[in-house]
Amino acid sequence: AEKAYQFMIRSRIPGGALTAEQYLVQDNLSERYGNHTMRITTRQSFQLHGILKGDIHSTIHAINESLLSTLAACGDVNRNVMACPAPVSSRAQAQLQEIAEQLAIHLAPKSKAYHEIWVDGEKIHSTEEPEEDVEPMYGVTYLPRKFKIGVAYPGDNCIDIFTQDIGLVARVENDTLIGFTAVLGGGMGATHGKQETFPRLATPFADLTVDQVLPVSETIITVQRDYGDRTNRRHARMKYVVEECGVDWFRQQVEERLGYQLSDPSEVHFHGIEDHLGWQPQADGNLFLGLPIENGRLRDTETSRLKSGLRAVIEQFQLSVRLTAQQNILLLDIKEEDRSTIEHLLQEYGIETDPTRVGAYRFAMACPALPTCGLAVAEAERVLPALVKQLETNLHALGLGNEEIGIRMTGCPNGCARPYLGDIGFVGRSKDLYNIHLGGDLGYTRLNAVYAQSVNIKDIPAMLQPLFVFWRDERQANEAFGDFCHRVGFEQLREKVAVQTTV
Ligand code: SF4
Repeated sequence: AEKAYQFMIRSRIPGGALTAEQYLVQDNLSERYGNHTMRITTRQSFQLHGILKGDIHSTIHAINESLLSTLAACGDVNRNVMACPAPVSSRAQAQLQEIAEQLAIHLAPKSKAYHEIWVDGEKIHSTEEPEEDVEPMYGVTYLPRKFKIGVAYPGDNCIDIFTQDIGLVARVENDTLIGFTAVLGGGMGATHGKQETFPRLATPFADLTVDQVLPVSETIITVQRDYGDRTNRRHARMKYVVEECGVDWFRQQVEERLGYQLSDPSEVHFHGIEDHLGWQPQADGNLFLGLPIENGRLRDTETSRLKSGLRAVIEQFQLSVRLTAQQNILLLDIKEEDRSTIEHLLQEYGIETDPTRVGAYRFAMACPALPTCGLAVAEAERVLPALVKQLETNLHALGLGNEEIGIRMTGCPNGCARPYLGDIGFVGRSKDLYNIHLGGDLGYTRLNAVYAQSVNIKDIPAMLQPLFVFWRDERQANEAFGDFCHRVGFEQLREKVAVQTTV
């Protein structure tokens, strides 16, 4: 008999936007074919785990019937397009969602094979057409590696814009979207021990009008298609082309292909990241509620019937949903008169609606790692909550309990939870061992760096404790932990800590 192979199915959900019906389809599929959980990804998508091989077709078919897709959620193509998910502002903010949707459609593979296999079940493309015509942009060999695009609202770096291959930062004047500043060549993935691989922040590239976004993005992709490294997959992301050839060279290539010059990039500034949690007003007068979801994992447990509660509320009130890049969920279009009913209903299911009660984990996230990711060399999702709890207890004891510290963990250096940004990153090296990265900022605009290598997870709290004491005693006014580590420098940090620990 054949083994019971099981799979993960990831949907493509631009900007993390779902209707109530689409959400309920994902929930139903996770119950019928999956492992009864849904996982919000760090790119605002849903992953369903535990799908048996014989159920793949039914699952993907049903996702497409709900007018979502799994096409280009994986593979060496443009992946799920991210966008700031909060409906807080004006028409300009809503346009970001539209741009994300347009990019996703425009840059999707054009081959009909996906639909033949998963949607219609019959061949709808003539074999007489030459192969080359199937993919006018990707060509017959697609891209050297995956490709990522994100769209940010000014000032709010909630989608980690500098980690994208193309980051588009909206330029808004008088509530009107006038264009974007594009940044180029970001990416997190690295490989332990391979010097030619490294995380990189995107570089300012050009200012674009709204109409230029699609053609310029497409042209950038063709340059990566032609110059990206196809001999070494670990070195194949566009960030290496930008780093090694320079952003000026890259822009020249794009301008030659476009046949016109691009405008120089404006400066971009971010005040931090909004996690969009709690009750907040929408631009149209309704409310939305941002709910914290630990590691984006929706499931029922003994203490919280999170998945059932969300299903009940979304179904009863027909609420649209947005998934955030911090793996949380926003319930949209809530009428003021329904607020307390919804709040009570969620509380009946044991769901926390007040983000201020979440504690330190509000600012933490982990990738799935073991047991579902085949690339994982260490745990992440299953161990980070307890580690953060311990760190939180220690911080409280030092009088630092109210400080915001961004903590991210991954089970390998590929960096899916973007651990090279933020105050503290834990990157798995092998079973129980992690590199500790320190020195990022709360705006997620500066890479952190390796402070210690291969630290056993049980030793991490003790290793960080003297650093927290040092920070408390010698920080500048309101200086965040990562900023402090960055300013002081690792050498002095290690020196001072060594002194403290031997006193
Ligand atoms: Fe990504 Fe590595 Fe985590 Fe797997 S273990 S989800 S590849 S970071």
